[in-house]
Amino acid sequence: MATREEWSMSDFEIGKYIGEGKFGKVYLAREKQSGYVVALKVIFKPKLEKYRFHPHLRREIEIQRDLDHPNVLRLFAWFHDEEKVVLVLEYAARGELYKVLRAAGRFDERTAATYVASLAGALAYCHKKGIIHRDIKPENLLLDLEGRLKIADFGWAARSNAKRHTLCGTIDYLAPEMVEKKAHDHAVDNWTLGILCYEYLIVTVDWAFPSTPRVSSEAKDLISKLLVKDSSKRLCLEDIMKHPWIQKNAEPSGSCIKHKDVTRAKVIDK
Ligand code: ATP
Ligand code: MG
Repeated sequence: MATREEWSMSDFEIGKYIGEGKFGKVYLAREKQSGYVVALKVIFKPKLEKYRFHPHLRREIEIQRDLDHPNVLRLFAWFHDEEKVVLVLEYAARGELYKVLRAAGRFDERTAATYVASLAGALAYCHKKGIIHRDIKPENLLLDLEGRLKIADFGWAARSNAKRHTLCGTIDYLAPEMVEKKAHDHAVDNWTLGILCYEYLIVTVDWAFPSTPRVSSEAKDLISKLLVKDSSKRLCLEDIMKHPWIQKNAEPSGSCIKHKDVTRAKVIDK
């Protein structure tokens, strides 16, 4: 995308409506000058004011603007006028990982390991920059055209110089130290990674046909080393990436999609 100081709506051709969140709408758009396809998140100011959401949005923008990693959704720019704030975001063509998981029931070990490795890599990058996400869950993970995982939604993220006490995130994925309102640090994201890994492989939404999915002992070993109550004993991200299950199963490219599926998605998108 072109770089410039000031952006406005007139720099974009607006395409299809993608979806709606609590504070605004998301549209597919094309930057006129470069032809670059992006997602525009349009947030209406009266809604922000009603829910006193300014501080979250400001934090989300400040944090995400600083991050540049293949598995973190890029925030290219933002601008505002009287009635709205607009975020110019990387477009994640395959949408929410959550929906893909729902449709599939569970992932095979190659796919699950690839997502866990991508997520661990992205979190390691964020933690190194002093950012804890604190709200990692399937709804906040998007997929690009190649099926590469992108962390989105930094509304709950925090800079992590000291241990923190705020209760935030989504209860099912919260680490015990956050539920108990104790001080917490970057290890909260690692707990969530363990839950996701469990969910990717084991929870089947197909309740009418209960089956016990067979999961390798290496996968169980990784999950059991992440879902540890004592946060200081939880496996660190570097060890997750070195874990035998990841080494054996994860695709180094971060994409498990076959080339023919990428071409098909491109056609559908037009
Ligand atoms: P919340 O308001 O709690 O954040 P949300 O995450 O559903 O809710 P948005 O983030 O505004 O709301 O997103 C609305 C819809 O647009 C969701 O379905 C989301 O998956 C989709 N979406 C958001 N950003 C992108 C993007 N960059 N690329 C593709 N789809 C996106
Ligand atoms: Mg969101």
